[in-house]
Amino acid sequence: MKEVEWLALSKNDRRFDGQFFYGVSTTLIFCRPSCPSKVPLRQHVSIFLSQRAAIDAGYRPCKRCRPEVLSFVHSRSQIVNEAIEIIKTKLDEPLTLKKLAERLFVSPTYLQKVFTKEMKISPARFILESRMDQAKHLLRTTDLLICDIAQTVGYVNAAHFSTVFHRHTGESPTYYRTKVQ
Ligand SMILES: [Zn+2]
Repeated sequence: MKEVEWLALSKNDRRFDGQFFYGVSTTLIFCRPSCPSKVPLRQHVSIFLSQRAAIDAGYRPCKRCRPEVLSFVHSRSQIVNEAIEIIKTKLDEPLTLKKLAERLFVSPTYLQKVFTKEMKISPARFILESRMDQAKHLLRTTDLLICDIAQTVGYVNAAHFSTVFHRHTGESPTYYRTKVQ
């Protein structure tokens, strides 16, 4: 076992989920690195690079961390793609970096780093721009009230939405709408 693997599993580090699994020889159960169960003795731990390898070696999946449902290894692009997918479909939710990271089983710091590296803007900025793009689209193509558009793009408070929109585009939502219609 590599030192980094031992550290990951003894600290329940989610960032390593999908990169490897560990089995405990005394229980014949295997886990994700992030499993909250008691840290086993190091000499009882075996590392597996896939669920299949653990199962073939006679281990059963842990009922707490459910390693068998983690069906893919997170590559960086995959994480970024999934993050974008979540952002695009959840614009009406108060999505934060922390919540986004939780859904992807990685740390906020890690997500911030890989996302910014690949997309050249931070997740928070990307969320904001996606909201504003959607708002513009709705202002152009629908007769929805400003307060309804605000809700649809994640702002409970229409005044707050208008302020952010103005700051972002230099125009109020109402003015933007009259201009484009
Ligand atoms: Zn477990």
